[in-house]
Amino acid sequence: MATPFDEPSTLPYALPPFRDVRLEHFRPAFDAGTAEQRAEVEAIATDPAPPTFENTLVALERSGQLLARVSHVFFTLSSADSTPELHDLEAEVSPLLAAHRDAITLDARLYARVVAVLDSLPDRDHDDAALSAEDRRLVERVHTEMTLAGAGLDDAGKERLTAINQELSTLTTTFERNLLEDTNDLAVHVTDEAELAGLDDGAKSAAAGAAADRGLDGWLVTLPLYTGHPWLASLQDRGLRERIMRASLSRGRRGNEHDNRDVLLRIVRLRAERAELLGFPNHAAVVTADETARTPEAVAGLLSSLVPAATANADDERAVRSRTVGFDVASWDWAYATEVLRGEQFAADSSALRPYFEADRVLHDGVFHAANALYGLTFTERSDLHGYNDEVRVFEVRSDADEPVGLYLLDLYTRDGKRGGAWMNPVVEQSHLLGTLPVVVNNLNVAKPAAGSPTLLIQDEVETLFHEFGHALHGLIARTTYPRFSGTNVERDFVEFPSQVNEMWVSWPSVLANYARHHETGEPLPPELVLGLSDSAGFNEGFSTTEYLAAALLDQAWHRLSAAAAAEVTDVEAFERRALEDAGVAVEAVPPRYSSTYFAHTFSGGYDAGYYGYIWSEVLDADTVEWFREHGGLSREAGQRFAEKVLGVGGAQDPLEAYRAFRGRDAEVGPLLRRRGLE
Ligand SMILES: [Zn+2]
Repeated sequence: MATPFDEPSTLPYALPPFRDVRLEHFRPAFDAGTAEQRAEVEAIATDPAPPTFENTLVALERSGQLLARVSHVFFTLSSADSTPELHDLEAEVSPLLAAHRDAITLDARLYARVVAVLDSLPDRDHDDAALSAEDRRLVERVHTEMTLAGAGLDDAGKERLTAINQELSTLTTTFERNLLEDTNDLAVHVTDEAELAGLDDGAKSAAAGAAADRGLDGWLVTLPLYTGHPWLASLQDRGLRERIMRASLSRGRRGNEHDNRDVLLRIVRLRAERAELLGFPNHAAVVTADETARTPEAVAGLLSSLVPAATANADDERAVRSRTVGFDVASWDWAYATEVLRGEQFAADSSALRPYFEADRVLHDGVFHAANALYGLTFTERSDLHGYNDEVRVFEVRSDADEPVGLYLLDLYTRDGKRGGAWMNPVVEQSHLLGTLPVVVNNLNVAKPAAGSPTLLIQDEVETLFHEFGHALHGLIARTTYPRFSGTNVERDFVEFPSQVNEMWVSWPSVLANYARHHETGEPLPPELVLGLSDSAGFNEGFSTTEYLAAALLDQAWHRLSAAAAAEVTDVEAFERRALEDAGVAVEAVPPRYSSTYFAHTFSGGYDAGYYGYIWSEVLDADTVEWFREHGGLSREAGQRFAEKVLGVGGAQDPLEAYRAFRGRDAEVGPLLRRRGLE
């Protein structure tokens, strides 16, 4: 069967021909793509010529292009625009893809060739005319990845490893599917309008729309991925707040067919078993060996050093909030009490900001404006190009020399079939070797307003848009030879760094003044609201840091279990309680940002033993924000340096070395502590 994936797309920037893609194309394309790459790898492995960089490493980088084309489209859809049929197909192909990857990574002949090339490299300090620094890193990275994946194991070890990987692939898909379905089921149905007091009209009509979509009367409060809900900040009805919070916390642990407890226990045990097979004490040790952190001890060192100040601040914040609202603040009251307090302290609550955050204006006059001032990029909407859904917008990105840079796709709105949260993913990866320019997608989950109404963002959504666009910039500015290194293909504990840095422009005075204008009157943001935005740095950070640390420490706790210890855990809730108490982050009014049974990052999203990475990379982020402040802020010159030394390099250089080259020294933790009020 011919499919739209057979040949590279002929659309501008090789944008996939989404409108031609049908469900029945995927399976044959996956089969053809894996067969093609198997043949390519076989040719490399059996090449009679002695192993060289060119005939082994470069040949590997060139392989699997059909598979890459279909995979990028398939996984874009399965996360952003899925259907039950697509989910079934994902469950079917995930184990096949895992087996395919394993067959390559565990190929003993291939591994022997990589080792031979590695051994033939001259010393690092030696000038090597034949290989660039990126070439050398390609050899080292492929060797590390194959070794950690088990390429050095004997046949029995490899066989067990492959079985583990296949089962894990199925389990993580099950986890995600259970979570999506339980989250849908747990949407809170409201029939008494009085309960919605405090909610603005836009949110209300979104809730009415969500109810109507499911054929229900009244209003439906659909849940985001994390603990809690953005509307808890404005809902005045304490009972409804509690219902929403309890629904959020109960996901995946209700004893129904979407229960994730046994699924995650099995995931934890298999990961621990695999780690021992590879000669590591636990899964976290395997993961960090491939990260800039290097060891779980280094991770624990940073996280635990932040706990005492964070929880002490959270306790103080709770006392202040309880006094402010006149009752004992529970988890479901926290956001509400914080808003009341914010109103008192900064003369405005955050809902006062929304009329100034019209989505299109934020995008063009905020996000794109900052990228233009820093990196010289321009963005032109291409209504002649199409995404995978009519709600996806396509922008052409060009440099200030009017050279083509790539395409940026934005999919702003929430819908059934889109997973929770916000993210960036590449659809085409930049590579000089393959002659490709980047095509990247940003997904958010903004509630769609009623027809004819403007999309007004809350502050959190504005920050999320800038954040995700930071990932997009990482992809767009990439200029690496090998696709393996392009853009966000860096160590996982480094990947959040560029996106976090991009958040600094949200409240940068000249950027804010440019985008924050009243959607009806065009008036700029009143000075007292601007003051609230900038003065509120450090505000509520005890809470935010504690809920984050609790999740990060929980992720570490599950993955620092030995295989024997993991086999003994049978009660998910008890383990979770104990882990939080042991780490000193069991604060009743501040539940973890994600609890185990809905912790998609760690059980299905590829952040296993890696959720710590957000704060690990925030050390670099805060240090970089300080650098920008010292070097002219929003300037083309400063942006150019950051683009050249960090963003463009991707994973082609050791990230901490790249950072040193950019900053002139290693990152310091002081700016992070000051920013979060943890000194
Ligand atoms: Zn991110």
